[in-house]
Amino acid sequence: MALHEFDLIRAYFDRSSSADDVVLGVGDDAAIVQPAPGEQLVISTDTLVAGRHFPLGTLPADIGWKSLAVNLSDLAAMGANPRWCLLALTLPEADEAFLGGFAEGFWQLAQQAGIVLIGGDTTRGPLSITVTVIGSVPAGGALRRDGARVGDGIYVSHTLGGAGLGLALALGEPLSAPASVRQAALTALNRPEPQLALGLALRGLASSAIDISDGLAQDLGHILSRSNVGAKIDAGLLPLAPGLLDGCGGDRARTLALTAGDDYQLCVTIPREREAEVAGWPGLTRIGDIESEPGLRIWQEGKRLLLPQAGFQHF
Ligand code: ADP
Ligand code: MG
Repeated sequence: MALHEFDLIRAYFDRSSSADDVVLGVGDDAAIVQPAPGEQLVISTDTLVAGRHFPLGTLPADIGWKSLAVNLSDLAAMGANPRWCLLALTLPEADEAFLGGFAEGFWQLAQQAGIVLIGGDTTRGPLSITVTVIGSVPAGGALRRDGARVGDGIYVSHTLGGAGLGLALALGEPLSAPASVRQAALTALNRPEPQLALGLALRGLASSAIDISDGLAQDLGHILSRSNVGAKIDAGLLPLAPGLLDGCGGDRARTLALTAGDDYQLCVTIPREREAEVAGWPGLTRIGDIESEPGLRIWQEGKRLLLPQAGFQHF
C-alpha cells in the first residue's frame, strides 16, 4: 500500500515525548525547544549516503541506528548531553518494510541515548539520510579539538579496527576470521556505540577530543593541526579489536586500527598533571604523547612506521 508523506511521518517518526524542554515537536512548521539558563547548545549534522557510508544491502534497522549513531558520536566528542534531533530522509519509495526496520533501529538508539526527535523532512530520491543533533553543555564546558598541549597524554577508547574489518568482510574480502570475529566486526561496522558517557566523564578533564570516524591517524591529525602541536604514538599500544590480529595478521590489523574509519571511538588528550585521574579507567588506553614538533610520528618497536594511506576522504 502506498503511503502518503504525512501518513508516513505520523506512522514512523511522530512519537510523543514527555521531555519538558520540547515546547513543540513534530507537526508544525518548525520545532520549539527550551534550553536551560546557562547552557550552550552544541549542534552537528551528518549525512549517510547509500553505497558510500554503508554498503548496499545493509539492513534497514542498521541504517537507522547508524544514521543517529554517527551524529551522537560528534556530541560525545564534544562532551555534550544529547537533547534534540532532526531527521531528513530521502527515500526512493515509501517502502514500509524499509521504513519499519529503519525506524526500529533509529528509535532504539534514540531511546538509549535519551534524545528527542523534534522534526525533519521527507523527500523522494536516491536513499540518503541526514540527521541533525543538538546537545547541551554548561557554558564553556565543551570538549574541543584545539586544546591539546605539549606533554599531554593521548588516549583512545575501547578498540580500533573492528569496523574496518567489518567493512572488508561486508565487501566480500576473503579473510580467514572465525565466525565470532566476523560477527563482532560486522556489529562494529553496523551498530557503532557512540561514546556519550565517556565524553561526559571527560568534560573538564580532557584538553581536546575528537571522534574517530575517518581513521585514528587522520582524526588525531585534526587535533594536532587545530592545536598547533605534533605527536608520537606507539602502534604497539593500539587497542586492537578482538580477533583482528588473528583475522588478518599484524600489518593489516595495525593499518586498519590506524586508518580505517567508522569505529566511532574517541581520541582524547589529557594534561600530564591529570593523567592519574584516568589511570585504570576501563576502555581508555594511552597510546602516545603530544610533542611540539608538528606532524604525527608513529613508532613500532623502535622504528618509524609509514602509513600506506592517511584515512578516508570523499574528494
Ligand atoms: P514543511 O512543509 O512546513 O517544511 P513538512 O511537511 O516537511 O513541513 O513536515 C511536517 C512536519 O513533520 C514538520 O514538523 C517536520 O519537522 C516533520 N517531519 C517531516 N519529516 C520528518 C521526519 N522524517 N522525521 C521527523 N519529523 C519529520
Ligand atoms: Mg519541510
